[in-house]
Amino acid sequence: MQILITNDDGISAPGLRYLARALSEVGEVTVVAPDREQSAVGHAITLHKPLRVDRLELDGLGPRAFATNGTPADCVVLGMVELVGGKTDLVMAGINRGANLGEEVLYSGTVSAAMEAAMAGVPACAVSVVPGREPQYEAAAGFAAVLGEGLVETGLPRDCFLNVNVPDGRIGGVEITRLGRRRYENRIYRREDPRGREYYWFTGDPIEEDSEPGTDIGATRAGRISVTPLFLNLSSPEAPAGLDGLIASAFENSRWSD
Ligand code: MN
Repeated sequence: MQILITNDDGISAPGLRYLARALSEVGEVTVVAPDREQSAVGHAITLHKPLRVDRLELDGLGPRAFATNGTPADCVVLGMVELVGGKTDLVMAGINRGANLGEEVLYSGTVSAAMEAAMAGVPACAVSVVPGREPQYEAAAGFAAVLGEGLVETGLPRDCFLNVNVPDGRIGGVEITRLGRRRYENRIYRREDPRGREYYWFTGDPIEEDSEPGTDIGATRAGRISVTPLFLNLSSPEAPAGLDGLIASAFENSRWSD
């Protein structure tokens, strides 16, 4: 079994080592990871500059480890097309330093790496640990290894991949969840650099709008591992009420010709 492992925290992150070590028990591991932190780069791919790849010998990453100047999604493409050498059976991303819950999945490089694999029809899983006093890297890696091996056996529906979040501290179970809602109130600090030029620094405070039982936020808060099946298709069969009338009238009243 050929397993590709990547992350968005970069090649030196501890979570990558936990994951590589655990997955090497179930298959042949190739690590392809960004050479620096790429958290929150989302699904960006690199089209306008060369991608560099360095094969490295680093503790805990096994004999096949590569660092790139690309994004997590780049790493998955590079791995699957070039570096794994043959068919990739499984892609595991993480273990991310910090949870990826609710809307965070839309920004996460870790989740996007798994999504990139799902687009290619390869079973994939993003794995994150909730930050805290005892981030459960060891447990997360152990769970991910068994889950990943099982996924290769059972497969996943087309365009589906898994987002796993492991709670801090004692783990009391596991459940399948839906995404909660955790949006961020954006905050922008405007400051002056040493040369007198303005710069902006972007941050945000999370506001939880749905952490009910059944959500990823609710599960991890209750001390359970959250497994959220995610799907590539962002559209819904239900259109917002009144939209059909609105687009018909926009079409009728548009003035793009005669
Ligand atoms: Mn990260």
